[in-house]
Amino acid sequence: MSGRTVRMWRRVVFSSGHRYWMEGHSEEENRLIFGRWASRFNHGHNYVLELAVSGRPHPTNGMVVNIKTVDAIVRERIVSWVDGRSLNDEVPAFRNRSTSLENVALWIVDEVGQALPEGTELDGLHLYEKEDLWVELMLDSKNREGRKLAVGRRYEFAASHRLHCDRLSEAENRGLYGKCNHPAGHGHNYVLEVTVEGELDPLTGMSVDLDELDRVVERLVLERYDHRNLDVDVPELQGKVTTSENVAIAIWELLAPEVPGRLRRVRLFETARNAFELEDWS
Ligand SMILES: [Zn+2]
Ligand SMILES: [Zn+2]
Repeated sequence: MSGRTVRMWRRVVFSSGHRYWMEGHSEEENRLIFGRWASRFNHGHNYVLELAVSGRPHPTNGMVVNIKTVDAIVRERIVSWVDGRSLNDEVPAFRNRSTSLENVALWIVDEVGQALPEGTELDGLHLYEKEDLWVELMLDSKNREGRKLAVGRRYEFAASHRLHCDRLSEAENRGLYGKCNHPAGHGHNYVLEVTVEGELDPLTGMSVDLDELDRVVERLVLERYDHRNLDVDVPELQGKVTTSENVAIAIWELLAPEVPGRLRRVRLFETARNAFELEDWS
């Protein structure tokens, strides 16, 4: 059993200021590079970092790595540099480098990866800027160049529906779907997470045009699904049972050809307790 690899996740929080502005570039250049994000002044985030460390549990102590060891590395190499500080002004790695979420994630992976004890690997991380915006950076241990860097975004829509299959009898429908089959329907506050992988722009340090992603999701999904009846108002769901599985597939098919970059994951929460996910990293 000790031959198995286990991945451990550790969550760390820090608060930092940063700005989309490159010293040494003119105001005009900064506006060109960062567009509407450009500002000489800092704004700030309560960043949430989730680190994934893997290895085989030690035959004696049963641990992949002592959490205290990981915490000490993260404190010394990351948190002490960034917490309560300005990324642009106080972290040498960002002197001439955009403090985009992608770049912060890449810096953390470099810093933590090289300090982990022998026998453990940094598999990657999730770095949240806000609840509705994060970066996922996962490394491929067999191929040091191989990494997946994707941006995740969270949206919400409220819609009503009824689970009902025309090919089944009334009794069968009631038996199968229970209260979800009530004739007048019911509703959910759906939460939709969309993860997209793009090319990292060396200047902005951004990999996905977030405004464009928001516009695409707004136009194809939110405008068409929010405050609607999924059974009646949404053409692509006609003739289908509006289970969250089918709704998630419909959303995947709408978004995949249109999002900036490559669509990697769609996760649809029907309630806080169940989610339905499609994923393709090929
Ligand atoms: Zn920011
Ligand atoms: Zn329902």
